[in-house]
Amino acid sequence: MTKPVLAVVGRPNVGKSMLVNRILGRREAVVQDLPGVTRDRVSYDATWNGREFVVVDTGGWISDAKGMAARIAEQAELAIDASDAVLFVVDATVGITDEDEAVVRVLRQSKKPVILAANKVDDQRTEAEASSMWNLGLGEPFGVSALHGRGSGDLLDAVLAVLPDAPERAEEEVGGPRRIAIVGKPNVGKSSLLNKLTGQQRSVVDNVAGTTVDPVDELVELGGELYRFIDTAGLRKRVKEASGHEYYASLRTQGAIERAEVCVVVLDASETISDQDLKILSMVEEAGKALVIAYNKWDLTDEERRRYLTREIEQDIQAFKWAPSVNISALSGRNVDKLKKAIDDALAGWETRITTGQLNSFLGRVAASHPHPVRGGKQPRILFGTEAQNCPPTFVLFTSGLLDPQYTRFVERRLREEFGFVGTPVRVEVKARE
Ligand code: GDP
Repeated sequence: MTKPVLAVVGRPNVGKSMLVNRILGRREAVVQDLPGVTRDRVSYDATWNGREFVVVDTGGWISDAKGMAARIAEQAELAIDASDAVLFVVDATVGITDEDEAVVRVLRQSKKPVILAANKVDDQRTEAEASSMWNLGLGEPFGVSALHGRGSGDLLDAVLAVLPDAPERAEEEVGGPRRIAIVGKPNVGKSSLLNKLTGQQRSVVDNVAGTTVDPVDELVELGGELYRFIDTAGLRKRVKEASGHEYYASLRTQGAIERAEVCVVVLDASETISDQDLKILSMVEEAGKALVIAYNKWDLTDEERRRYLTREIEQDIQAFKWAPSVNISALSGRNVDKLKKAIDDALAGWETRITTGQLNSFLGRVAASHPHPVRGGKQPRILFGTEAQNCPPTFVLFTSGLLDPQYTRFVERRLREEFGFVGTPVRVEVKARE
C-alpha cells in the first residue's frame, strides 16, 4: 500500500510539533518548536480511523541563512512538493503574521489540498480569534488546541477527507495459502520438481471457477503448511509438445509470475546458465516478486562442472545474489525439503516493513558517513524517506535535488546490509525538488 503523505507547515512556535504529537497520539515527536533546533528528518507513521498515512513535520528544515519569511516559504515549498495534502498551522492567539502570508502565497501556487488549523484555541474565548483566520483565504479554519487535544478529531477527519486513498494491493486471497510459481525454461525439471513436492501426498485439486477439468493450481503441504502452487496445469500436461509451445510457455510463465507471491526459478545446474534463464530471473524481479533459485539436476554435476557453475553464478547471477538458492535434484529428491525454508525466508523479506522512524535514523547515518557528492556547487540531501509499500519493499526518498544513480544504488545496497531483505527485490524511488 502506498501511504499518502501529509505535510505540516507553519512558522515556528505555532505548535506544529505538539499538533503532530496529537495526530500521532503519542509522545514521540520532538516537542520543542525552537528556531535553530535542527530536525532534518521528521516523518512519522500515523493512523486515524484505521487509515494509515505519513506525517511530515517540517519544523527546522532550513538553516538560518535568509530572512524568516523567505525561509518559511521555502520550507513550506519543500514540504508541499513532497506531500499529498498540507496541514497549515497558524496561531489563533497571535493572528495573521507576515510569515503566515508568505506560506499562503506558496500554498496558493500549489494544487495541493490545504487544511487550515488555528492552534492554541484552548478555550471558548479564543474561538473567535480562530475565526479571524478566514481572512487567510484558505477556507474554514479548524480551531484546535494541540495542548489539550480540543478539536483535533474534527481536524483529522477533515485531513483524511482530502488525503487520497492508499490504493489497496490486489490480492487474490488475503490470508490464504501463500502462492508459489515454479518457473524456468523448458526441460530444467519443473514438472519433476512439482511431482517430487506433491510426492505421494494426495494433492488437493482446486478448479478455478469450474472452467477447466485440469487442476490449475495445486495445494501442497510442505512441512505442515499449505502452499498454493500456481498454474501447475502447464507443468503436468505435456503442452511442451504442442506446436508454438515456447511462445505459450513464456506467456504462461509471465501469467504465473504475476499471480504468485514467490517464484522458484529452476535452473539446470548441469548446463551453462543461458540468456533465457537470466530473462526469467529478470521477469520475476521486474514483477516485484519474492525469488528463490533452485539449481536442479545436481546429481548430474561433477566437480569440474560445479567449478564452472560457481564462476557463471559470480558473473551472471550477481544481480540476484539476494535470492536464497538451493542445490537440488528433483529426480532423487536431494535437498527438495530445503526449499520450504528458502521460500519462507524470501516471503518474509518481501513483506518486511521498516518503520518511518527506523528508516530515517538509518538514512541519517548513511548521509552522515557518506554524504552525497557536491554537484554544480550544490549538495543534494535526502530530506526524509518512507517505505511507501512492502511486497516488495519500496522506498520513496524525498530529496532537495536529483541524486546520482550511483548514490541511489549505494543507498539500496546499504538498505540491504542494514535490514536484510533476503529474497526480495528492493525499490528506491527518488522524489527530488528541482
Ligand atoms: P520441465 O520442462 O522443466 O518441466 O522439465 P521436466 O521435469 O519435464 O524434466 C526434463 C527432463 O529432465 C526429464 O527427462 C527429467 O527426468 C529430467 N530431470 C529433471 N530433474 C532432474 C534431476 O534432478 N536430475 C536428473 N538427472 N534429471 C532430471
